[in-house]
Amino acid sequence: MRFSTFIICFGTAAGFCLVGLGLAQAQQFDLVLKGGRLIDPRNRIDSVMDIAISGGKIARVAQDIPAGQGKQVVDVARLIVSPGLIDIHVHVFYGVEPDGAYSSGPNGLPPDGFTLRSGVTTAVDVGSSGWKNFRELKERVIDNSRTRILAFLNIVGSGMKGDPVEQNLADMDAKLTAMRVKQFPQILVGVKVAHYRGPEWDPVDRAVEAGRLANVPVMVDFGGVIPELPLKDLLLVHLRPGDILTHTYGHTTGRIPIVDEQGNVRPYVFEARKRGIIFDVGHGGGSFLFRQAIPAMKQGFAPDSVSTDLHRGSMNAGMKDMTNVMSKFLNMGMPLEDVILRSTWNPAQEIKRTELGHLSVGATADIAVLRLREGNFGFVDVGGGKMPGNKKIECELTLREGRVVWDLNGISRPDWDKMPAK
Ligand SMILES: [Zn+2]
Repeated sequence: MRFSTFIICFGTAAGFCLVGLGLAQAQQFDLVLKGGRLIDPRNRIDSVMDIAISGGKIARVAQDIPAGQGKQVVDVARLIVSPGLIDIHVHVFYGVEPDGAYSSGPNGLPPDGFTLRSGVTTAVDVGSSGWKNFRELKERVIDNSRTRILAFLNIVGSGMKGDPVEQNLADMDAKLTAMRVKQFPQILVGVKVAHYRGPEWDPVDRAVEAGRLANVPVMVDFGGVIPELPLKDLLLVHLRPGDILTHTYGHTTGRIPIVDEQGNVRPYVFEARKRGIIFDVGHGGGSFLFRQAIPAMKQGFAPDSVSTDLHRGSMNAGMKDMTNVMSKFLNMGMPLEDVILRSTWNPAQEIKRTELGHLSVGATADIAVLRLREGNFGFVDVGGGKMPGNKKIECELTLREGRVVWDLNGISRPDWDKMPAK
């Protein structure tokens, strides 16, 4: 019908032509989000804008997109429209192996149950699988999830199965790890090293070697041995610019914290940032303390990326979910635009997936609509310490490839009495 309208248009007078185009343009978009405060740090936008979606992609961003142009229009006035959040530290290789731990064991979580409801449209599993069992993670979890799942491979070939598997230097092969990364470039975006408690640098160095061979970044969950391996050497010697330290604000046994006993961020940590080392939150169940984060934030040491370290142990404790971790930084004084930058465009760049994390026309329509609530709230760290706060980010609506996958209060739905009777 539209096509024939166009034929008439081209074959007749200009007046008909305009009518024809008008018909074709009516309801040209699948969905329009109207009146929200659009924050898109990649494109330096922070203002009230409408956004239109067609065929799962962002079709238009403008100050006023007429409601008549959308098949569906959602009023998002007084809400924040953000690129879909990117959580670059999760564990989603759930399974039933009694000894599986985070690698096909009980500590991993099925992603869709814990991501979309907090605005996360892309989650990066970091090191739950190694080169030997990545195929299982892919076929059982990644291929069956609505959330876009990317992954870092563990330098341990068998993945994050706890002890003794993760202490086995003989199972850490840079060449084979890099080979697997290169086989799945659409999904595998890095190499992870974690949990090793020996005095050797081999796990870090082999992970970096694998990262070099596959041209991907390495993420490090560092330390575990007493006396501690020097954090300074990790940051200034062993890692390359673009490699990522996760658990930035943690203080666990065998890991030198970034803030010293006098409450000062160690000078070499600033030096490492200048060198291009990336600092990620990776909150988790044991790796985020206000005693570290608050002085660091006051001294200007904000994280490059906000991430959760989502797993069974963290989600029911102080971490909770992505918006809760973001809210902690908001209440520590980070401006909202910065919180969103560090939860969207920064992590996209860290994993070299720059097609993600922004709302450019043509990009996949992964969008989080957030509500900034004001009131009296409390935020808890991994030591059980509470920080009061008066702001909290809550996820109202999540779109993945243009489809509503989470709608807290039904803002995209008609009233029930306007629904057709069955
Ligand atoms: Zn982790």
